[in-house]
Amino acid sequence: MSRFFNRSLDRLVPYTPGEQPQDQQYVKLNTNESPYPPSPGVIAALNAREAADLRLYSDPEAKVLKAVLAERYSVEPANIFVGNGSDEALNFAFLAYAADGRGAAFADITYGFYPVFAELYHIPVRIVPLKEDFTLDPEDYYGLHRTIVIANPNAPTGLALSRAQVEGILQANPDCVVVLDEAYVDFGGESCVSLTGRYPNLLVVQTYSKSRSMAGARLGYAIGDAALIQDLETIKFSTNPYNVNRLTLKAGAQALAEQAYYDKNCQTIMETRAYTARELEKLGFTVLPSQSNFLFARKPGTEGADVYRRLKERGVLVRHFDKERIRDYNRITIGTREQMDILLEKLREFL
Ligand code: PMP
Repeated sequence: MSRFFNRSLDRLVPYTPGEQPQDQQYVKLNTNESPYPPSPGVIAALNAREAADLRLYSDPEAKVLKAVLAERYSVEPANIFVGNGSDEALNFAFLAYAADGRGAAFADITYGFYPVFAELYHIPVRIVPLKEDFTLDPEDYYGLHRTIVIANPNAPTGLALSRAQVEGILQANPDCVVVLDEAYVDFGGESCVSLTGRYPNLLVVQTYSKSRSMAGARLGYAIGDAALIQDLETIKFSTNPYNVNRLTLKAGAQALAEQAYYDKNCQTIMETRAYTARELEKLGFTVLPSQSNFLFARKPGTEGADVYRRLKERGVLVRHFDKERIRDYNRITIGTREQMDILLEKLREFL
C-alpha cells in the first residue's frame, strides 16, 4: 500500500479469485466455469466485422440486449440492468442499498465477495450463521431492517431455498431490499424472477458466467422493479457508462436465441453432477445435495487442504477455502464426464 492510499480503506482485504493458472494445463474444476464452449451462433457473432467496430463505444443503454432479456424473462426492458459480470451488479447494489449506514445481512458461509463489498463501502454487517447442516433458516432473516443478500443456490454449499421460502423473507422485510444472487439457478434451483413484479423490494441477479459459458466475456444482469433498476443505472452512469463492451453485448443477445443449446448443457452437467456425487460417496466422501454446477464434499479423516494439494500435484484443480466450518471441504466444479473421471481416478490414487 502506498502512503498515498485512501486511509479509510487501509483494512480492506480484497477478494481472492480462484486460481487461473497460465503455466500448465490443469483439469480445471476450481471456478465453476462451464466445460462447454458458448453456442455456435455466439462464436460466429464474434467476427472480424465486430472486431473492426471496436473503434466505437458500446451502447450505454444496452438496448438490444435488454430487449431480448426482457422477452426471455417476461419483464420490461426497464426492469433490467446489465453489468460487467454479476459482480458489478452486486457491487452497485451494496453501494445503492447499504452504504448509507443502514447495513447489510448475509450468511457466514456464502459468496466471499459480499464481505469485501461491505468493507469497501464501510457497511455495518450482520452475519447470519447457517445451520449446522449448512441449510439457511429463512426465519433468521425475518424483520432484519437492513439490506439482505442471499446467494440462491448458495455458494460454496450448492444448497438452495425454495421460492416459497424466499417469498417468506420478502414478506417479512417490506422495508428492505432483498438481493437474490441466482448465479447458479439454472442447474436445478427455483428462480424468483417471477416474484419481481409483486415485490418492489426484490432484486434478482443472474450471470452469463456459468450456465451460458461466458465467464470470460463478463456479463451479468439484475431484474427488479423499475425504480430499483434506475438506482443501479444512476450508479453505473456515475462510474462507467460503457460498462459492457460491444462484443459481449452482441454475444449476450445471441446466446438467448440458442436457449436449447444451453438447456441441454445444463441437463448434462446435472447428470454428471449426480454421477460424480455417487462416485465420491463410494470413496467415502460426504457430499452436500447440490443444485448448482459444483459439489461441496469432504472425506472424514482427511484435511481439505491436503486433498486440494494432492489433487493439484496430479494436475486437477479444485477450490479449497481456509475458513472456519468449511476447512474440511473442497468445492469441485462439475466438468465433462471425462474430467470427472480423471478427478475420481486421481482421488483413488491417494485415498
Ligand atoms: N455470485 C456468486 C454466488 C458467484 O459464485 C459468482 C462467481 N464467482 C458471482 C456471483 C460472480 O460471477 P460473475 O461476476 O462472473 O457474473
